[in-house]
Amino acid sequence: MPQIITEQNLRNLIDLLVKESKVVVGPKQADSVVLYQPLAAGSELTLDSLPRRSAKELFFPICEKILSYQRQDGKMQVTDVDRSRFPETVLIGAPPCDAASPAILDAVFSWDYNDEFYLERRRKSTIVGIACTKGDDACFCTAVGLAPNAEAGSDLFLTPLKDGSYACKAVTEKGKALVDAHAGLFGEAASVDAAPFAEQGTEKLDLVKIKKWLEGHFEDPLWEKISDICVGCGSCAFICPACHCFDINDEGSTEQGSRRKHWDACGFSKFTNHASGHNPRDVQNKRYRNRIMHKFKYYDDKFGKTLCTGCGRCVRACPVGIDIAEILSTINAKQD
Ligand code: SF4
Ligand code: SF4
Repeated sequence: MPQIITEQNLRNLIDLLVKESKVVVGPKQADSVVLYQPLAAGSELTLDSLPRRSAKELFFPICEKILSYQRQDGKMQVTDVDRSRFPETVLIGAPPCDAASPAILDAVFSWDYNDEFYLERRRKSTIVGIACTKGDDACFCTAVGLAPNAEAGSDLFLTPLKDGSYACKAVTEKGKALVDAHAGLFGEAASVDAAPFAEQGTEKLDLVKIKKWLEGHFEDPLWEKISDICVGCGSCAFICPACHCFDINDEGSTEQGSRRKHWDACGFSKFTNHASGHNPRDVQNKRYRNRIMHKFKYYDDKFGKTLCTGCGRCVRACPVGIDIAEILSTINAKQD
């Protein structure tokens, strides 16, 4: 029989997890916007809208110290961050476009180098995804192979039901462990009646065809046409659940300080600036071309995955109205 949890018990689950000293993060109203934030109680969870920023910063913070250094007795002492202190975390209420992103990012953070800051947080996290019933015009998850009820990336997946409760599916062992440890909060139902999923107007894109076009059009008038107006603000990358570029800088003096890892964006004019002063992506359309190439060709070449979940955040955030879904649609319609 399908397993279910009532809305009240979902909130009780959060209360219990907090009592167990876990960090519980979920969509929470913060002034006029909803953001993923630590929840002090189940009553703080809000599932009415997509959080403004994605959940990637849970695993890949905007900025973090990776070591500190101090000169002592003429010698430089380096102190690593104690990653064993990263807390057990439950991300709860992530729609499919956010729940899917860590599973996409795992590939790059464990490829030529194991980024233990990211990976330790992933090991200590459980993701409770939820089917999306509230998309908007900017959403296009179905066009990139996901769906409002896609379970990819979730450990436990909830489907809102018409009676206000949720059908539950343990997708991974972590999800099963979460349910087993709190079995009293879950029940069974003879049948379930799912609430309508979010509607998506965008056509289905042929990602194979798009990739093939990209392979043959590194140089193409399209790039200038679509991205001449890009102001290189980086908002699209920072708000994206899948963008993952970062830079590393030392902050401090020659005597003491810290080394920090912080987000970067390929839209920034200096992103590829060489020490010599040469910049291979010297104009904005080359930088925007990289954004599309990386998401729909290079990442797929390397890892067999598309670096976009169709969340629509970059469409909503772009100050000059550049719409990635429209661009993909344009490429999809091309015949050559
Ligand atoms: S590229 Fe845009 S639509 Fe795709 S995942 Fe990133 S923010 Fe969302
Ligand atoms: S948000 Fe828009 S203007 Fe800013 S870098 Fe991205 S595409 Fe360019």
